[in-house]
Amino acid sequence: MAGTKQHLMTDGLIVREYPTVAESDRFVAILTRDKGLVRASARGARNVRSRFGAATQLLCYSDLSLIPGRDKYIIEDAKPKEVFFSLRQDMEKLALAQYFCELALHMTPTDASATDHLRLLLNGLHYLGEGTRDALLVKAVVEGRLLCLEGYMPDLGGCCHCGRAEDALMWFSCVDGTLTCSACAPPAEGMPVTAGVLAALRHILQGDFARAFAFKLPAADTVQLARLMERFLLAQQQRRYNTLEFYHTMHPELL
Ligand SMILES: [Zn+2]
Repeated sequence: MAGTKQHLMTDGLIVREYPTVAESDRFVAILTRDKGLVRASARGARNVRSRFGAATQLLCYSDLSLIPGRDKYIIEDAKPKEVFFSLRQDMEKLALAQYFCELALHMTPTDASATDHLRLLLNGLHYLGEGTRDALLVKAVVEGRLLCLEGYMPDLGGCCHCGRAEDALMWFSCVDGTLTCSACAPPAEGMPVTAGVLAALRHILQGDFARAFAFKLPAADTVQLARLMERFLLAQQQRRYNTLEFYHTMHPELL
């Protein structure tokens, strides 16, 4: 029967704020646990006295009550669970957090459960805000696990030609997602992979999610891992991310 609409009670992370015509309204994209990426509007959410103003702003993780509409949801209620305040105090962390959000816009399901995607994003933002992990490692884990969740799994078992599992230096093809050892002919676009970087790649992409963020690397390997994961993601996604290009202005070593 027309007119009866079921509320969707879920939790989600606000990953994008769109410009709106009415100055007091807010139109956002939310990565929700139960329905993946949804678009939703909140009447008057930008008014100072709005009861859910804070809960509907970018990077806020909230409990939500959503009313389904024709092509978007209406936010009926929102209560903040985590606002990631510390990310807003640091331009570099904020830039990276916004890149995570842009990744979520392009690499999360719509109209399907997204518990693992949401958990990954929330963990990434948590470790970024907390500052106990190297931000470049947090970035590599978020990129790598998102790629896994979306089915882009590289073959890290060993050299794709001779099967050798380890070498002091191997080469990774970001296009094919394969390894080549130093004895076999490396691909023209191959990126160098030290034994430490290979161990980190296997840890991030093949290990338990609960321990995905728990590892350390020497500084040189950290930059190499970060460059490799980013290139692999860009090669697989074949698109540009404005937020990443902005982050690069603060991290030219990634280029
Ligand atoms: Zn080989």
